[in-house]
Amino acid sequence: MTVRVRIAPSPTGDPHVGTAYIGLINWCFARRHGGKFILRIEDTDRGRCSDASAQAIYASLKWLGLSYDEGPDVGGDHGPYVQSERVALGIYRKYADQLLAQNDAYRCFCTADDLSGMRERQLAAKQPVMYDRRCRALSATESAKRAEAGETHVVRMKAPTEGASTYNDRLRRQPVVKQWAEIDDQVLLKSDGWPTYHLAAVVDDHLMGITHVIRAEEWLNSLPKHLWLNQHLGFTAPEYVHVGLLRNADKSKISKRKNPTSLLWYRRQGYLPDALLNFLALLGHSHPDGREKFTAAELAPVFDLDRINVAGPVFDLAKLKHLQGLWFRELGPDQLKAEIHRAVDARVDELLPLLRERMVFGGDYLLQSAPFYAETVEPHLDDLVPKGLDRPQAKLILEKLVRVLKDHAGANGTWDAKALETLIGGAIDERAVEKPEATPAQLAEARLWNRKTVFMLLRVAASGRKESPPLFETLAAIGQVRVIERLAAAAQRLGVLVK
Ligand code: GLU
Repeated sequence: MTVRVRIAPSPTGDPHVGTAYIGLINWCFARRHGGKFILRIEDTDRGRCSDASAQAIYASLKWLGLSYDEGPDVGGDHGPYVQSERVALGIYRKYADQLLAQNDAYRCFCTADDLSGMRERQLAAKQPVMYDRRCRALSATESAKRAEAGETHVVRMKAPTEGASTYNDRLRRQPVVKQWAEIDDQVLLKSDGWPTYHLAAVVDDHLMGITHVIRAEEWLNSLPKHLWLNQHLGFTAPEYVHVGLLRNADKSKISKRKNPTSLLWYRRQGYLPDALLNFLALLGHSHPDGREKFTAAELAPVFDLDRINVAGPVFDLAKLKHLQGLWFRELGPDQLKAEIHRAVDARVDELLPLLRERMVFGGDYLLQSAPFYAETVEPHLDDLVPKGLDRPQAKLILEKLVRVLKDHAGANGTWDAKALETLIGGAIDERAVEKPEATPAQLAEARLWNRKTVFMLLRVAASGRKESPPLFETLAAIGQVRVIERLAAAAQRLGVLVK
């Protein structure tokens, strides 16, 4: 048997670091066994998918060097490799029809209103929310008649109502057992005739000759449906293997709020593909000889799927940075120079209009632009206490501003100079009002919120300097994440008493 594995990302938003992680494991497995690594684009959720996002996936995998043997932009014998193109060929409908003909699936004519009424009743009765299967009782003749009359419907799988689905995942000590009673009659074909992920993935894995589906454990809950579909469509199921999900330090699934998840971000930051792959590899699999630094190509020949760490690998940026340092310092002079140019060039067009007023020579750019490139700044402690404030007061103001900015970020507020001016100006003015009913302490606090003072404090905390280009342009260019981090760090420093 020739090993054929795939990754099947959905092109929604930026390419995800989880795709690189699962991609690396599949790539190594294919290389180790002389097999093929395939890229398939799962874009059946039309509202959320875009071609730009698919293009970004191709570019990111190329950047990382995770080359695929078959895929949308490289071709292959099992194409097309984009599901929307396969929909157009009628591939999925054929299998949905087969299940209907076998009485393993049924048409469901329930409307959105029917379903929301069902949901409300179930919630009120504290029952699990799932489809109550009312259309399952329709006779084949009535169902066909209503469909022919053009009545809107979906196709649902006729899931077993009792017993359990059991599967031995080679990476898990216990069999994966799910009770059918808890599993819904999954929609397979939507009312517009497009398949859901479940039908499309199972059909494509079969038609593409996939031997092993190696994916993240978030899909474990879908496994019974996938096994059932394979069985009822008469397919030999691939081996399903579920690896651990990348996790934040608090063990939650890796999320944008706690870690950068976009591969574009890593690329922009200047992470080297080898360093990022090395880091991802170490999250899932150690090198058998214990070495820390290795390439994907060095790992592949000794890669052992059974040695994958499933216990929720924790994503630790400090570790990634350490590896990045190891790889970076080994670059030859030409590569180093190229990296420097790349880093500077990445932002020079954006920053020059802001900085040119303060420059006399080209080299001045280095000094002027440092706060915009640096990861952190170290303002002088004295500068963090502008005239008119003491340390606890400066700390208080920074903390309140951090709150304001975090709320703004949480509400997906725009991060540009104009929006920031309105936001911060408004926050200051609101707090500066001396209300007639205010206590003396409140009055004293209101007096601290003086625009000039607060602007100075913000400038120093965010840029590390007492002088910078206009404040709100500066904050906009430093970026939301870093501004919030820097203000919080400054507030913290102000709170640490230095003897
Ligand atoms: N399209 C799914 C995703 O975005 C693929 C899941 C699978 O590998 O089966 O992760």
